[in-house]
Amino acid sequence: MSEYNLDLTGKIALITGGSRGIGKAIALAFSTKGASVAITYANSSSSAEQVTEEINKLGCGAISIKANSSDYNRANEVIDEVVQKWGKIDILVNNAGITRDGLILRMSEDQWDQVIETNLKGIFNYSKAVARTMMKNRGGSIINIGSIVGLTGNAGQSNYAASKAGLIGFTKSYAKELASRNIRANIVAPGYILTDMTNILDEKVLEDIKEATPLARAGNVEEVAAACLFLASDLSSYITGEVIRVDGGMAI
Ligand code: NDP
Repeated sequence: MSEYNLDLTGKIALITGGSRGIGKAIALAFSTKGASVAITYANSSSSAEQVTEEINKLGCGAISIKANSSDYNRANEVIDEVVQKWGKIDILVNNAGITRDGLILRMSEDQWDQVIETNLKGIFNYSKAVARTMMKNRGGSIINIGSIVGLTGNAGQSNYAASKAGLIGFTKSYAKELASRNIRANIVAPGYILTDMTNILDEKVLEDIKEATPLARAGNVEEVAAACLFLASDLSSYITGEVIRVDGGMAI
């Protein structure tokens, strides 16, 4: 590393679930540093369009693609579309994620399957599909969005915690497989961040979460995006297989 550089000019990034929340913030952060950005989404086409419009105004280039992260073949199509447009992918952020909470004794098979397929299989789908272009390009950064719940567990979120713990094992294994190709794979594990996902929690739960957080507040999406920016840039060129918590100290 010759200089301390956060610049992403000329880099191509793909962010799954970039239409709202944390994924949107990551897309905007990368584009302010010069990257061209492709985002995927499941349903919110108008929100996705707003994100790409905002990025296009910065002059970096952005596209949105409707693609369910759990669909293996669709992941290959998405990667092909981005590579056809821009010739390569330097940065992949696997951010798409859902919750379907419930105690295990009441959890349906469908609740389990949906969360594992979206949050964990989705990461396999995109990480595998992106490898060829990254290998050809002799480098890349894969960033998987986990959760501190994957480290600590959480009653009522066994499916979600399993998906987020699972992606740590996946990412560490993939980091070892890809290191010789100069492709890094890391995890950002947020704590309690203000987004649509956490808006549904009731006041009491939110107060309890804040009380359990040493920095005594919720995090914001830009604070998660900042960690992703670090992992996407050459500033983290010697970091792979790492979990970075962005949780105000909640999981210390
Ligand atoms: P939001 O619910 O605000 O946004 C989720 C994003 O993922 C949307 O863009 C959504 O698209 C997309 N998405 C959902 N399901 C799919 C799917 N099957 N295929 C493709 N895209 C999909 O979530 P957050 O921003 O809060 O969460 C983002 C990530 O951060 C998730 O992985 C989550 O688990 C993780 N996280 C969040 C925390 C928090 O406190 N908010 C804490 C820890 C981790 P659409 O708009 O079309 O629905």
